[in-house]
Amino acid sequence: MAQIVSSGSSSKAGSRAIDQTWVWFNGDVMQYGDVHLGLMTHGLHYGTGCFEGIRAYWSAQHEQLFVFRLEEHYARMEQSAKVLRMKLPRTPAELAEITRELLRKNGFHQDVYIRPLAYKSDEVVGVRLHDLHDGFAIYPVIMGEYVDISRGLRCMVSSWRRVDDLAAPARAKITGAYINSALAKSEAMENGYDEAIMLTGDGHVSEGSAENIFMLRNGVFYTPPPSDNILEGITRATVMELLTAEMNLDVRERSIDRTELYGADEVFLCGTGAQISPVVEVDRRTVGAGTPGEMTMKLQQLYFSVCRGEVKKYQKWLTPVF
Ligand code: PMP
Repeated sequence: MAQIVSSGSSSKAGSRAIDQTWVWFNGDVMQYGDVHLGLMTHGLHYGTGCFEGIRAYWSAQHEQLFVFRLEEHYARMEQSAKVLRMKLPRTPAELAEITRELLRKNGFHQDVYIRPLAYKSDEVVGVRLHDLHDGFAIYPVIMGEYVDISRGLRCMVSSWRRVDDLAAPARAKITGAYINSALAKSEAMENGYDEAIMLTGDGHVSEGSAENIFMLRNGVFYTPPPSDNILEGITRATVMELLTAEMNLDVRERSIDRTELYGADEVFLCGTGAQISPVVEVDRRTVGAGTPGEMTMKLQQLYFSVCRGEVKKYQKWLTPVF
């Protein structure tokens, strides 16, 4: 029997088999083990789906599970769905409420990752977007760190280019487009690195396999603009606000060249899964001193405080589950 991805916690929910996890599937709350999809399902063959990745953080202090920027994730999903000629079954606000109820029903008292998925559900042969039905599911999994966020990541610039807006829009979180991330990530890991950094077709730094990228040079943080084929990350937006409002640093969106990363004082990747992950090496060149950057680690600490409800000003980003 498949097990939920465990963060190592020994709580009841953590040791529960995924088959017994409560999920939302096409309008019904049911157990994961009772969900069945046909072999011919369109989304499985042609990658005609879109998804989100959302984190909920357990706060021992508040005895509360906080979902981070929940409604914003569903708002982005609505945009992804639009690109795919899909319609989500409920509004972002309604989906946020369904997610809360689902987490409550599962009784999670630990960090959780939530995966909403919309997909073309028809069991037909023939690639297209129009004239098809949409399926929709939300399922939670227990998740700790996605990458090692304390040690610092060793990255390589991928030989794979980031998908282009003219081919498979990176701005939409489309299931099929993740073959691009998978190619880059496996190439990096099988060559002994932790993560890949992808360039755009015209050679500018775009992003990691599942993370946006920031670079510190001479006291200013830079990050690629949305037109450099990035997913417009919710963590990226969060980071931009925290760096300027709380750390009093200048953040600029502009295209970045590969070798600028070699000379950077600090580099980090960020995303819902990766959170704030310092980069200590790019293409075997150390970044700064070759250890996690001072500003990056300060930001990481602040980010976790915000996610766990310890900063009053940013509780606006948190949805309590219980
Ligand atoms: N880029 C890609 C390709 C991603 O998959 C992700 C993760 N969703 C991100 C960036 C970061 O986005 P977010 O901060 O919204 O999780």
